[in-house]
Amino acid sequence: MTSRLFYQTRLERPQLDRADGIYMWDTTGKRYIDGSSGAMVSNIGHSNPNVLDAMRKQMESSTFGYRLHFQTEASESLAERAAELAPDGMNRVFFVSGGSEATESAMKLARQYALTQGEAQRYKVISRMPCYHGSTLGALAVTGYAPMTAPFDPMMRAMPKIPAPRAYLDGLDPDDPATGLHYAQMLENKILDEGPQTVLAFIVEPVGGASTGALVPPAGYMQRIREICDQYGVLLIHDEVMSGGGRTGRFFGADHWNTVPDIICLSKGFGGGYVPLGAVIARDDMVEAVLDAGGFIHGHTYAGNPLACAAGLAVINEIETNDLTGNAARMGDLLAGHLRDLMQKYPIIGDVRGKGLLMAFELMLDRQTKTPLPTGLNAYNRLVDIAYANGLIIYSRRTRGGLTGDHFLVCPPMITTEVQLQEIIGLLDTSLAEFVADLPV
Ligand code: PLP
Repeated sequence: MTSRLFYQTRLERPQLDRADGIYMWDTTGKRYIDGSSGAMVSNIGHSNPNVLDAMRKQMESSTFGYRLHFQTEASESLAERAAELAPDGMNRVFFVSGGSEATESAMKLARQYALTQGEAQRYKVISRMPCYHGSTLGALAVTGYAPMTAPFDPMMRAMPKIPAPRAYLDGLDPDDPATGLHYAQMLENKILDEGPQTVLAFIVEPVGGASTGALVPPAGYMQRIREICDQYGVLLIHDEVMSGGGRTGRFFGADHWNTVPDIICLSKGFGGGYVPLGAVIARDDMVEAVLDAGGFIHGHTYAGNPLACAAGLAVINEIETNDLTGNAARMGDLLAGHLRDLMQKYPIIGDVRGKGLLMAFELMLDRQTKTPLPTGLNAYNRLVDIAYANGLIIYSRRTRGGLTGDHFLVCPPMITTEVQLQEIIGLLDTSLAEFVADLPV
């Protein structure tokens, strides 16, 4: 029978039977390596017994306590842990159930805070192109990528964009601080063009996710955008939905540059694929101001439910107890080396980038001129399908903005061992060979 479910397309995939560690099996018994942690979610691997135990324990006491009726130990403890991990002065945590909810909540909190400061004229949220901040209407408005937004344009307000700092495409050296300043200057220019008094916030993925394919900011960029935001009273939102939770080799992606935002968005690896969970962590004084002014006009029914929070707490425990963030840094270095070896072997790989186990490679027709593969080739689906048939799951996108080619995220769980990494690279090598052999160009 055809499935009654529907998602984006008619894509049909085999039925999942079970999953354990970095492996998944379908109901025919075929095994897959989860080389992308799903959508960069299953950071601590599947079926972790300690997380399952914590969930079971929580289920035996309560699975839901509405936040207006009860506080729960699980949500209080998870908020405490999240605040400990966040930079100083960011101790207030608002739970949600996913990444889009996190970015929506962050923007609404920013707006309400601005109102408490008598700055009602500030409403614009500047973001980068390409970027991805979610699919709900507010998050989509700042994502601002025409193929995703066009049908809904009359329902949203277009938000200002600046280019993402894709130094590799622009022929600039990402390690040269002048490059960071060059791209950061675009933010200042945009704020000035828009009128600083109208700009509420700048939202940025510290290490890019699927839209840019693990884009790492050039030297000095993160520090300079913080300065610019401060100069113009613009709030800085770090969307750590994908880069947070340890995957980049630090708990927050921005920890690599020691920059502190005003609001952090978390999800994906925060619930680790065990439960839908996300969080917004904000500056104490911002939250106090909003609460003093009558409260945050926002909320979702399932926010902070004890089952999700108990699972989230157990996920953080696993990350810390087993130093999975450190493992992500170590395995990430090895993975980057393996991918660069594949780049030597396959001229079609035009770039390798990322941090820790948030790694990507990009296919190009010509590495020198950065010419993308023809759109009609549908490379981003083709290679994924070949890898899938070979038992390796990777994640792909045709870069947002249509400016460049197809990139592939190789982001296995943070528990991945050196031997498993070699297994992943072996399957990727086989898949690339098949892909190249089959190319019509
Ligand atoms: N922000 C970033 C950086 C993301 O990568 C995503 C999802 O991929 C989102 C927000 C939206 O998260 P969700 O799909 O959970 O709504």
